[in-house]
Amino acid sequence: MTLLSDESTKSQSYELLYLAVEKAIRYVDSVRQRRVSPASSALAALSRFHEPFPSGSCNPTEVLKQLDALGSPATAATTGGRYFGFVNGGMVPAALAASWMAAAWNQNAALRVMSPVAAELEDVVLQWICEALGLPADCEGGLVTCATMANFTALVAARHALLERAGWNVNEDGMFGAPPIDVVVGAEVHASIRKALSMAGFGRKRVTVVDADSQGRMRSDRLPPLTERTIVCIQAGNVNTGAFDPAEEICAVAKEQRAWIHVDGAFGLWARVSPKYAPLARGFENADSWATDAHKWPNAGYDCGVVLVRNGDALRASLGVAAAYLEPGARREPMYHTPEASRRARGAELWATLKSLGRAGLCELVERSCAHAQRFAIGLRDAGFEVLNDVVINQVLVSFGSPEVTREVIQRVQEEGTCWCGGTNWQGKTAMRVSVSSWATTAADVENSLEAIVRIARDS
Ligand SMILES: *Cc1c(COP(=O)(O)O)cnc(C)c1O
Repeated sequence: MTLLSDESTKSQSYELLYLAVEKAIRYVDSVRQRRVSPASSALAALSRFHEPFPSGSCNPTEVLKQLDALGSPATAATTGGRYFGFVNGGMVPAALAASWMAAAWNQNAALRVMSPVAAELEDVVLQWICEALGLPADCEGGLVTCATMANFTALVAARHALLERAGWNVNEDGMFGAPPIDVVVGAEVHASIRKALSMAGFGRKRVTVVDADSQGRMRSDRLPPLTERTIVCIQAGNVNTGAFDPAEEICAVAKEQRAWIHVDGAFGLWARVSPKYAPLARGFENADSWATDAHKWPNAGYDCGVVLVRNGDALRASLGVAAAYLEPGARREPMYHTPEASRRARGAELWATLKSLGRAGLCELVERSCAHAQRFAIGLRDAGFEVLNDVVINQVLVSFGSPEVTREVIQRVQEEGTCWCGGTNWQGKTAMRVSVSSWATTAADVENSLEAIVRIARDS
């Protein structure tokens, strides 16, 4: 690639960047109006990406034009306000703009010396998140790709701490022959915890599963005996119902026994910013580690997972690669807090998101999504359909009758394109899940989506 050595290459490069901005703005402009799932013609056109690896170079302008022409129409319109799939958040304007800025920087956030600004912004956002979520101010943490990685990172820190207590250095001696660690999860544990447990050497099955109630909350009266070699994984926000495990009760028992409590709070933990919803998420501050996503409820854009650990030594001991971090007075080095070394500066979007929203904006975003979820629940019930969960935050589960009918409605809703909702299985019942997680969703989006869902369901 040519450097910006002469005027003509320079103006070509500018042209390319302006073109990218123009295309991106056109996308942002149109995404609210367009169908949420891509049209079948757009999906079919994706085959045009497939060609033998080009033997020669291609003008970057042409590259970008192809990316836009084939790519933009084949996106799921997750930023448009009518996407209610999984728990996918949108992206607040400040996050999008900051991601453009940060892309221009192309910083490696591994070490402070590689990117002073990336390291500084991580310091700031980690502290802000502790404040926003009401977690201990002296937690240490890292920014990772997603909550799965955040869960993994926290479990690795827990593993280190508990085995160290038993006189075992897991970094040096590994998991073979190590003193056993008991892992306790609820029956409705998120699949990512099981995956993280397997990656961390605990095994998906070698866990004690505690019964859950009708909303998916772990039953604290069914906890097995805990010891100082137990990790208990609790949940703030069940991915189907939005329900919270009874953290106060569980943490009280666990603390007495010196067990390690880990919280999977991928989206639900953010309810703690709202005075109205915080009482649901009481007690989670008493845990030892937390995983959450800024790309879900805070709408910081992908990819942005956050891990926080009360005992920073355990985190650094498991993930530090050298003794350099032990230097007294040395400042936090990002890569001693995450599995990754080289990483993009995702703190830039996260900082921009939190700075632009502030506590009031974040609280409003959470409360507005919950209000939209309530409206969905009322609208669906009024139309005669069964809402399967207590709608406590932003998640609604609805059944349209038999599993076959419900599945058909989900498929037709997705194909029709007004909105997008996914399917799930809730305690043996087939359901459609409506997850309101985007800042962009308006009351009109909710009404239009409800109208489409009810129309399709009545016709199925
Ligand atoms: C979404 C989610 C996860 C996984 O998040 P990723 O960012 O996709 O890895 C884990 N736990 C819960 C409760 C979730 O909702």
